[in-house]
Amino acid sequence: MGDSSTTENGVKPKTGIKVIIVGAGFGGLTAAIECIRHGHTPVIYESFPSLKVLGDIITFGPNAGRIFARWDNGSVAAKMRSISIDLQSYGFNIHKWDTGEIVLNQKTPPPNPKAPMFNGHRGELHEIVFNYAQEIGVEILLGQRVDNYWEDETGAGLVLADGTKVHGDVVIGSDGVRSKARTLVLGYEDKPKSSGYAVWRAWFSNKDMLADRETAHFCESGDTFNGWIGPDVHFLFSTLKGGSDCCWVLTHRDEHDIDESWSFPGKIADVKKLLHTWDPMCTKIISKTPEEKIVDWKLVYRDPLPNWVSGYGSAPGHGRICLLGDAAHPFLPTSAQGATQALEDGATIAVMLRKAGKENVRGALRAYQDIRYERVKKVQKTGETTRDMWHNTDWEKVKKNPEIIQFPREDWVFGHDAELHAEEMGDELIAKASEGLKAAKI
Ligand SMILES: Cc1cc2nc3c(=O)[nH]c(=O)nc-3n(C[C@H](O)[C@H](O)[C@H](O)COP(=O)(O)OP(=O)(O)OC[C@H]3O[C@@H](n4cnc5c(N)ncnc54)[C@H](O)[C@@H]3O)c2cc1C
Repeated sequence: MGDSSTTENGVKPKTGIKVIIVGAGFGGLTAAIECIRHGHTPVIYESFPSLKVLGDIITFGPNAGRIFARWDNGSVAAKMRSISIDLQSYGFNIHKWDTGEIVLNQKTPPPNPKAPMFNGHRGELHEIVFNYAQEIGVEILLGQRVDNYWEDETGAGLVLADGTKVHGDVVIGSDGVRSKARTLVLGYEDKPKSSGYAVWRAWFSNKDMLADRETAHFCESGDTFNGWIGPDVHFLFSTLKGGSDCCWVLTHRDEHDIDESWSFPGKIADVKKLLHTWDPMCTKIISKTPEEKIVDWKLVYRDPLPNWVSGYGSAPGHGRICLLGDAAHPFLPTSAQGATQALEDGATIAVMLRKAGKENVRGALRAYQDIRYERVKKVQKTGETTRDMWHNTDWEKVKKNPEIIQFPREDWVFGHDAELHAEEMGDELIAKASEGLKAAKI
């Protein structure tokens, strides 16, 4: 079993495990940072040629905050905090879709420096994490498209688009929702399904909002968060960075053809048409959005994959390649946990590899799947339950008890400490996985 002692700066002694990571999203970057903390040597291969500040709003729950807060004594979390929404005084106003009345003001829990929450621009938060990974010595190779994967009894690696073969001890496929690694691990192509929903989303400056006295109040005195909940649709609108930036996400029914591309330019006219019977404030906000900022994002869905690790269960292979983050488990935005669960994966895998040691990376990967699988499946479900709870609201019941409509903040989701849990359960799970490997003579 691996060395659990810690050197002076909190980084564990070297394990000699070379971890090849595909994708520099939040999942891949976190896995790499945690690998450094636990003594491994990670290298990331990423297809994009340079870092770009992409996307719009993204949420990290306290269960992700607990991971960020451990990096560089909290300095990474402090940077992320400075550009994230602050709702301590405003909370979350939940409106009835047609009348616009505020049925509930959901208070924001007091800040917890050990487990902070972040809601901010995906690209800006990503840049902070990317820079930190580089600062602590993670090798990130950009412009490297991975074309294929290989593994045998003693090693695993990649084949890049230019034909270069890369060697390591273990490969983490954190290549996102359209993962190639997934096909390799499963041994077949797992096609995405339509979720039956899509989102229009936008991030824009407050200029036009400020110019109209009916909308200016959202941007004049700090950050705000408002949600309009209605039949089969919900519209979430936030202002951030003291009200200077605006962002909305509108979830609605859409039986799209999922063979198409998943992200298109959105049209203001379509959004307005959908909201024409809604509280006129929603249309006002839409009207202040520059059309080129609207994205029409189709939400695809996958049933939970049977395996995330090669050579495990029905999956072919030698047990040295695993999936992580969206590649293993895409989430619906209403769970607000997609990126957070990718972080939990990264924190877990680094602990398992250290505990199992270089000679037993296959036991580590199986233990990673065993400790994560049921939790992730349960959290994935919350994306559907929250959406369905909002889209089928019984307003008579809400009148009597407005709290039934609040955004769920459940302790089993938010209170989880992935690193601690892996430290506590790791030895037992690795021993069990090793028995399984022995019995299967793998
Ligand atoms: C450009 C972009 C914008 C996004 N915007 C938002 C947003 O606004 N709001 C939100 O909630 N979520 C957004 N997401 C999704 C969100 O970041 C993820 O759901 C979450 O962070 C989980 O991250 P992940 O690391 O598992 O996957 P991703 O963040 O999808 O990262 C996967 C990475 O793998 C790389 N990759 C894929 N295939 C290969 C290959 N063959 N070779 C090398 N590299 C490869 C991709 O370029 C990407 O950087 C976005 C994702 C991306 C990639």
